[in-house]
Amino acid sequence: MNRRDFLTATTVASAGLALQGCNESNRQAIDYSKHPQKSENAKHVNINRNKKTTIKLATSWPAHFPIMGTGVEKFAQRVVDISGGTLEIKLYPKNTLVPALAVFDACSSGQIDAFHSGPYYWKGKNSAFSLYSGIPFGFTAEEINSWMLFGGGLELWREQYGKYNLHPFMGGNTNIQMGGWFRKPINSLEDMQGLKMRIPGLGGEVFSKMGVNPILLPAGEIYTSLERGVIDATEWVGPALDIQMRFYKVAPYYYSGWHEPGSILELTFNKEMWSKLAFEHQSMIEVAANELNSNMTYEFHSKNIHALQELQDLKIELLQYPQDVVNAGKTALTKVLAELSETNKDFATVNESIQKYLKLSKQWSDVSLGYFLNER
Ligand code: CA
Repeated sequence: MNRRDFLTATTVASAGLALQGCNESNRQAIDYSKHPQKSENAKHVNINRNKKTTIKLATSWPAHFPIMGTGVEKFAQRVVDISGGTLEIKLYPKNTLVPALAVFDACSSGQIDAFHSGPYYWKGKNSAFSLYSGIPFGFTAEEINSWMLFGGGLELWREQYGKYNLHPFMGGNTNIQMGGWFRKPINSLEDMQGLKMRIPGLGGEVFSKMGVNPILLPAGEIYTSLERGVIDATEWVGPALDIQMRFYKVAPYYYSGWHEPGSILELTFNKEMWSKLAFEHQSMIEVAANELNSNMTYEFHSKNIHALQELQDLKIELLQYPQDVVNAGKTALTKVLAELSETNKDFATVNESIQKYLKLSKQWSDVSLGYFLNER
């Protein structure tokens, strides 16, 4: 045995000892249960290097759309690289193969193999799906990742999507979103009454109960509607994407938000197709999906901090909602969650899981991050 072989053998032996020394809590932390299940007949590397597997993936975003579109493009390239070219992800941006909001059905039926979008778009299929994006006053990006991976969220999501022949992964997070752009300042809840605001999802339902008139508009019509006063306010995402929409020119009052504190984006596969993929390919996709999920979250943070600086240079007004608006939001949220739990058992199950985890998570976040952010 030469020196190099000896060193390798020693390292492997030490690693083996270290693994044997793993206690139960370490094993749970690694959480192998979330990884692809290796089938009995997959005991050896079974990729056929002479055969390329192609996955057709459609997105709800235009080609090269900042952060979301480009993030998926990096994911696709990563999969090609780590599979040695045996697995190719063919990307179809918004409306090139299927309409932006038809990706769920197209994937469910097998017309496409996968999609990148947001779970809150599918609340018409099952109101519980909106919960996988997060809830107003709910999880931060870090907390929702924790609930998904270690709090049972991903199991529930996969079980419920499984009924639609779909197998989801987390595919990024917008990080905390801003409350939105207003043509006039909001001094009290009174100023929100009858206000026409573009705000979708659970946030829209909460705002509706607070007296706001939520409007749904295609992205391309928001700016002109705001400029002409057809709407009084709009939320979008955060500084990074908002600045490109130039809302600051026509609605200069920019409010911090609580309606989407950490919205998850999804990378979802046709379940039948997924189950037929080689185990190695499944594992590679899982690794690349985890990278996509974390990178997109951090890229949002990075682009937001720079864009906020630019917005401040433009002298916009950065504001917080008045306390009575926040209180009304919390009351409205309780009502919305209770009503939807009443009418949909799936919603009740997911909401219960979220509330249980959120209660504990809040305790920890409040005494750690909460205090720290106030002191820093
Ligand atoms: Ca939003």
